[in-house]
Amino acid sequence: MDATLDGETVGLRCQGGVIAEVGPGVTAHHEDELIDGTGMALVQGLVNAHTHAAMTLFRGFADDLPLMEWLEQHIWPAEARLEPEHVYWGTRLACAEMIRTGTIAFWDMYWHPEAVARAVEDAGLRAVVAVPLIDGSDASTARARAEEALDLVRESGSGRVRAGYAPHALYTVGPDSLRWVAERAEERGATVQIHLSETREEVENCISVHGVRPAFHLDGAGLLGPNTILAHGVWLDEAELELIAERGATVVTNPVANLKLAVGGLFPYLAARRRGVAMGVGTDGPGSNNSLDLFSDLKTFALLQKNAAWDAAAVDAGETLRLGQGDSSPLLRTPALSSGAPADFLLVRTRSPELALGALDAGLVYAASGSIVDTTVVAGRALMRGGNVDDASEAMTRAQECASQIGVR
Ligand SMILES: [Zn+2]
Repeated sequence: MDATLDGETVGLRCQGGVIAEVGPGVTAHHEDELIDGTGMALVQGLVNAHTHAAMTLFRGFADDLPLMEWLEQHIWPAEARLEPEHVYWGTRLACAEMIRTGTIAFWDMYWHPEAVARAVEDAGLRAVVAVPLIDGSDASTARARAEEALDLVRESGSGRVRAGYAPHALYTVGPDSLRWVAERAEERGATVQIHLSETREEVENCISVHGVRPAFHLDGAGLLGPNTILAHGVWLDEAELELIAERGATVVTNPVANLKLAVGGLFPYLAARRRGVAMGVGTDGPGSNNSLDLFSDLKTFALLQKNAAWDAAAVDAGETLRLGQGDSSPLLRTPALSSGAPADFLLVRTRSPELALGALDAGLVYAASGSIVDTTVVAGRALMRGGNVDDASEAMTRAQECASQIGVR
């Protein structure tokens, strides 16, 4: 009650996980649980469109190394020791951080996806939990495992968790498995998440092995459709962007992870926007970012794009915020705050030094970080009130134990 929305003082009532009424003059019913929104603004939550949540366990472990050395010598050996319980608590810790910093939904790709799904259910967020696929030495066994995992994720569902496939990347998944994913995803109505064109080396390898650039290779396997998320896309060229726009796939940029791993390039956002490519923004995993605070990453995104374009007007705060809310992709979009929409929203502190003056969009993108969020509500349930996330303390303790067990602490 009494929060501001688009400059007006409003009330918002939730019932059964959806918004029953919102607007000026909406008042509480006597049985309602009340949240006082005085000094706060109602804002749509953020959608973290690419992450590996459980990698909170690897935060601060083997930092400051090149991507392939980091993966091959440190992360992959440690991941081989992961049990579902470790992934569960790593994901719970990530959920606590995302709730605290204003993310209401995320797109995840990680091992033991059934444990990820359970963690998301328990934490109260929404997520698309993708089952990972790497060919390894036995592609058919890997595919069978992915299929089983998809069933398990689907069984866990309360409606807040959806399942998808995640072929890891073109350098770890061959053309046969890519085609298999395309068929299975189509048949089962599932989404697909894949890393694409993160490094220049990856693009050069794709051309030398398959004779075409990555987006064309993926298209040849039938995977470049409206239900596919392409994470990174740093090295996409104009022809690839045109093809992606035509097929309706979504590219998710991860500006901070790209900077930290020094990929040397920048996602060609302005060219992609010109061609009408669907887009989103993600943090990538906490092993390579290391934060899950998407509000901070939105600032980095906007500044990088402005600077590379030599044009301070290239991207504005409102556009950046909407990108973070999933509005630039049909796959990521969440409904506006209106009656009948899911009751997912944030209350941000406008009575704070960062937001007390000036336009709210600019304040949220350039001045604030996720710490400005006071209340996070998903499906009508307040997961955080007054900056305190339920169960955050247990998640920290258990994740620390898990990190010790797998020898990264
Ligand atoms: Zn990633």
